[in-house]
Amino acid sequence: MAMIPSNVHLRENALQEVGRILRRERCRRPFFVVDQVAYSASGGCDVLEPLLQDLCVSRFTDFELNPKLADVQRGIAQYNDHAADFVIALGGGTAMDLGKLIGALARQPNPAREIVTGKAPLLPTENRLLAIPTTAGTGSEATHFAVVYVDHQKFSLADESLLPNEAIIDPTLTHSLPPPITAATGLDAFCQAIESIWAAGASEDSVRDATESLRHSLAHLVNGVRSPTPESRLAMCRASYLAGRAINVSKTTAPHALSYALTSDYGIPHGFAVAMTLGPMLLFNSQVSESDCADPRGVQHVRKRIDLIVELLGAHDVEHAREIIARILAEIGCPANLSAAGINDIAKIQRLVGSVNAQRMSNNPRTASPDSLVELLCGS
Ligand SMILES: [Zn+2]
Repeated sequence: MAMIPSNVHLRENALQEVGRILRRERCRRPFFVVDQVAYSASGGCDVLEPLLQDLCVSRFTDFELNPKLADVQRGIAQYNDHAADFVIALGGGTAMDLGKLIGALARQPNPAREIVTGKAPLLPTENRLLAIPTTAGTGSEATHFAVVYVDHQKFSLADESLLPNEAIIDPTLTHSLPPPITAATGLDAFCQAIESIWAAGASEDSVRDATESLRHSLAHLVNGVRSPTPESRLAMCRASYLAGRAINVSKTTAPHALSYALTSDYGIPHGFAVAMTLGPMLLFNSQVSESDCADPRGVQHVRKRIDLIVELLGAHDVEHAREIIARILAEIGCPANLSAAGINDIAKIQRLVGSVNAQRMSNNPRTASPDSLVELLCGS
């Protein structure tokens, strides 16, 4: 199943394409999910406003970071009131997810709450969605997933209709991002590429995309945070998109499964939350054995994938690879481990491990019991 957005425009000033796309799609009444701060700061508004002025646009701007069901519900009501015929989502991961969810859920007979909590099906629908990321990291423009929080609990929806049918990835929109956001979002791409390579769900194609993604982020992530250039911004946009494409097939694994509670309970930015357990999980997964291998292709296969990651990192063994990951985190201001972020006692770590979604964890190449995870994370 090779689901990728049919049209991807990845280059400097690609945002200029919007007018042509909207005319081609015969769009008259767009629903514009837009992160206002990103819209102004990125310079996107200077380019886009003249292109939108002849259309009847409904703007959806009032939403919190990390998508909430209440925001999706308000968006659906506004979308239907407007009789919208197209969705444009501009911003970071939250705006992307809201654009996906509102577009797909607005035309459903069942209530949004029932669908996102899995009590009612998402019926087939065409999502006319143009995704315009303003950060380089989530790769959400290339995936058929969306995350939404319902009463503080995280739900993940996966459906073909959530995949944007067009994406504009314009690195100039990321030029104004401050270093901490460049760091956190870039680390998301970096971790997604590594997790995708070792994921039980990986295919040869997804490993190729993840490998190329990782090469770009290794060459440009640290410099892109500390002294960004147009070249590093473009490379990180590419890393982000390719990692998105890779996880769209492979899905993510343990570091992502562990990250969601770090974000919702401790407010740690998503990319940092994922990166903080990446090194320990690399060590854990490298010790895979016949009795705990979760990849049907077997232990040798998983070891080869771990070797590939070690080699891409420029390391001579797993321990060295962990050091390289730790150095990258340190160089761009990410807490080195859980205890550096104040999660330093066993009760907190047990609660964190208890929060993980078993299904997402089953995609990790080595089966991890809650006890083994607690032990691993306490010692790291
Ligand atoms: Zn992520």
